[in-house]
Amino acid sequence: MLSLIKGAEVYSPEPGGKKDILIGGGKILKIAAKISSPRDFGKIDVIDAQGLICVPGFIDGHVHIAGGGGEGGFQNRTPEIQLSHLTTAGITCVIGLLGTDGSTRSIPELLAKARGLEAEGISTFIYTGAYEVPTRTITGSARSDIILIDKIIGVGEIAISDHRSSHPSEQELARLVSEARVGGIISGKAGVVHIHLGDDHGKMEPLFKLFKDTEIPITQAIPTHVNRNPYVFEDAISFGKMGGFVDVTSGIFPREQDKNPIKPSIAIKALLEEGVPLSHITMSSDGNGSAPVFDKKGILTGLSISSVKTLWREARDLVIKEGLDLSQALYPITQNVANVLKISDFKGQVREGLDADLVLLTRELDIHTVIGKGKTMVENKIPKVFGTFELSGK
Ligand code: ZN
Repeated sequence: MLSLIKGAEVYSPEPGGKKDILIGGGKILKIAAKISSPRDFGKIDVIDAQGLICVPGFIDGHVHIAGGGGEGGFQNRTPEIQLSHLTTAGITCVIGLLGTDGSTRSIPELLAKARGLEAEGISTFIYTGAYEVPTRTITGSARSDIILIDKIIGVGEIAISDHRSSHPSEQELARLVSEARVGGIISGKAGVVHIHLGDDHGKMEPLFKLFKDTEIPITQAIPTHVNRNPYVFEDAISFGKMGGFVDVTSGIFPREQDKNPIKPSIAIKALLEEGVPLSHITMSSDGNGSAPVFDKKGILTGLSISSVKTLWREARDLVIKEGLDLSQALYPITQNVANVLKISDFKGQVREGLDADLVLLTRELDIHTVIGKGKTMVENKIPKVFGTFELSGK
């Protein structure tokens, strides 16, 4: 079926003016100042977008889609994410990954969840691996996983400088990053390694050493959680200025009991002010893992599930609180992620020929409508499509 979006203010992320957008077969077929509905083409779903802003669907590069957590006991393992949790957050493409727990969680389970979400209507990819090195795989090697399994586009999240890391040696890390790179070269994928940074004072030193001592391009390993504390953030500025990509985590922000993290929107603005090119900055949510809940005195009262909604909340704050242009705020959660992950031929922009993954925003920059692969998933802030078992028992 064809859909015609009428009169939206387009940010591709670049501002493109008021446009009509024709969608068919899951793709953006045409963008023009005015498109009339062709009468002979059968029923066309017309979406009146007067007063709305059309932006690319968000790409969240770090979500524990098959569940995460489990720290502090088995009762703390978070369940699988539900489709509408992602779509109502404007996310039309997600990269799933494991985390601390590569023992009770597995890559086949993650792959199955990614395929499930894809069947339910959004786009998915995954990283093979978990925190530890040697890491978890399906085929026995990260390289073969990337080459042989369509949805696997890289390795992650590999933990360094963290008390939960396996503390890989420089050689182990170099071997893994090279493996991923070669996997990427052979399969035409990104083959990147997504690196979890912890609070150790070793900070990003293992990465600086790796790229000093080897010929591996600095863009092959992408550090995430760079805003987790001021000293890691300082290293991230240097890394970004050296030509690396840096990933800010929208789910890490200052809370009453822990003021150490840098608010994600402030972190992105600071990276830009320090001279890190916008094209080298991405943001992901780290959603669906476990997040501690503290009372006002800072006492742990329980656990909640970290929300993917922080992704747009922080990107929106870049405009509302930090004064950036909307297009600047969009790049780290759309086109930049697509470029880093080598999926820009079909994701990350409002452009003819690309997948029809679109978000319509209100003037106040609230998420109004979400379209995934041409299908309306959220309409006027209400989810229209749910995951297979999402409503069971309700
Ligand atoms: Zn992490």
